[in-house]
Amino acid sequence: MSALRSEHISHRLWLAMLIIVFSVVLMSLPLILNNYRDYQKSSEVLLEIQSLKMVAELVNKVSRERAPANNVMSSVWNEHFKSQEALEKYRKDVDIHIQQTIDVLNETGFELAAQELQQQFIPTLILGRQAVDDYVAVPSKHRKMQQLDGAISAMFKAWDKSHDVLQHVIEQSKGKNSIFSSNYTLIFLLADLRDQAGRAASNIMAAVTFNETVPNENLARSLQTQRQAQYLWELVHIVQPEQDKTPEFQVLHQRVKTEFLDQALPLINELINESLKGQSYRMIGPQLTEAMLNKFTSVIDLQNYILEYSVHSAQIEQEYARKELIYAILILLVSLFTILLTMIYAKKWVFEPLILAREQLFALAQFEDRSVQVNKRKQGANIFDAIGRVQKKLQQREALEFQLKHVAHSDSLTGVANRFALDEYIKMLENQSAQFQQSCLIIIDIDNFKQVNDSYGHITGDLVIQAVAESLKESVKTSDLLVRYGGDEFLVLIENISIATALKIAEKIRKSVAKSDVFQPENFERIQVSISAGVAVGAGSWMGLLAKADEALFRAKAKGKNTVSS
Ligand code: GH3
Ligand code: MG
Repeated sequence: MSALRSEHISHRLWLAMLIIVFSVVLMSLPLILNNYRDYQKSSEVLLEIQSLKMVAELVNKVSRERAPANNVMSSVWNEHFKSQEALEKYRKDVDIHIQQTIDVLNETGFELAAQELQQQFIPTLILGRQAVDDYVAVPSKHRKMQQLDGAISAMFKAWDKSHDVLQHVIEQSKGKNSIFSSNYTLIFLLADLRDQAGRAASNIMAAVTFNETVPNENLARSLQTQRQAQYLWELVHIVQPEQDKTPEFQVLHQRVKTEFLDQALPLINELINESLKGQSYRMIGPQLTEAMLNKFTSVIDLQNYILEYSVHSAQIEQEYARKELIYAILILLVSLFTILLTMIYAKKWVFEPLILAREQLFALAQFEDRSVQVNKRKQGANIFDAIGRVQKKLQQREALEFQLKHVAHSDSLTGVANRFALDEYIKMLENQSAQFQQSCLIIIDIDNFKQVNDSYGHITGDLVIQAVAESLKESVKTSDLLVRYGGDEFLVLIENISIATALKIAEKIRKSVAKSDVFQPENFERIQVSISAGVAVGAGSWMGLLAKADEALFRAKAKGKNTVSS
């Protein structure tokens, strides 16, 4: 039954542990899920920004393709071959980038944008390139400014399509609602700024190449482009969050101002002024392309910086989310481990000993009266019943021990202390500093006791010993030790008493015995009983004190008995 009971307790312990574990898991789960979602989102945003970077770089490359294309279209005969080679090389580079971008977009869930690149952008780029090639195929003397301008515009259209793809990727991005929204906007604005910068020159390229007046339409476009570039530059500054305006950003932003807005645009304006005044231009087409290209690098550098910065920030964000997730999982694992260890520890060092103690208590309690046990069982015995029963048993045992001790220390005939008790008392006195200096010993011996035995028999002799003992008990205080030393001899030990008082007590004892009535049981004859007593106070040892008292008794007997002597 007790085995079943402890099994039951053990089951309950495991159930409690399961509940605690379940609660901890339940509490940690939202934290882990939240962190996991953050981590997933940050990973998605990182992928998005990387795809966005690819598209933004493609848009730039498409914009920049106008430079080698313009060079081929406006180059003089002896440089034509070189320019053509540079354009072919550049086109191949752009084609590779287009393919890579399509792959990345497909991989990162921007299938629509990849499709748009293939179906909208590539055909427009092919048309633009075709327009350039068609123009180049025309012999120099038959070429016309409008044809050149048309080819340049065809390349503008290709860029427009690439720019549309960039816009759609940003629109589809989940990260545009995150802390990276400003980065997305900046990438878009800077792509635009890069192209506007290029267009400012491309708009007057045909006129400069043919050394003709810039048509009004191109004039208007060029001025509009310049204003837009200025506006975009300011917008970039506004959109970039203050905390992200690193010293590097500030320098690059300022470079766009000095190199592009303050140097490149005034050059175009000077060429426009020359056109308006009907003067011949200060430079030819390739020189204009060359001059402008150097100034664009600041815009490209700023855009590259923003792209790198965004990727870097997204990586940091992802790393942070990853760490948070790992910490949350670690906290859960550590908590579970701690609970497990605590439970194992508690089971081994607390509950198991308690269960054992409980079983031992029940086992101890089993010895009780059967009828009580049956009743308790009916009521459903519990640990408190068992403790009560064991307590009762202990009390009974203590009482028994007390009785046994008393019996062991008592003389069976008279009930006063025996020699065993005296030995204990002597040991106690020996351990005290005063030892026997303050102790008083009275030795009492029944006079002519042998005669009593001889005349009336031993049974009557015993009655006499008992009667003397009763007289002594009445005359001696309970704090004093009364011992039957052997035969007809008694000792009285009294602490802190003067010899005079001790003699008085001995005298009182003598008188009380002399007065006592002891009858012979058979014929009811009164037996005359007397005692002699020897009194001693203070000695160096017990044996010394005993010898002193014994000598005193000897003196009392010698005086004729029924006397007290010291
Ligand atoms: P004295 O006056 O000189 O003491 O003479 P006495 O006859 O009393 O001599 P003593 O004290 O030497 O004798 C003690 C006797 O007590 C000896 C022994 O037979 C007897 N005795 C000892 N123990 C018991 C006992 O338990 N019961 C009885 N009835 N007699 C005992
Ligand atoms: Mg005697």
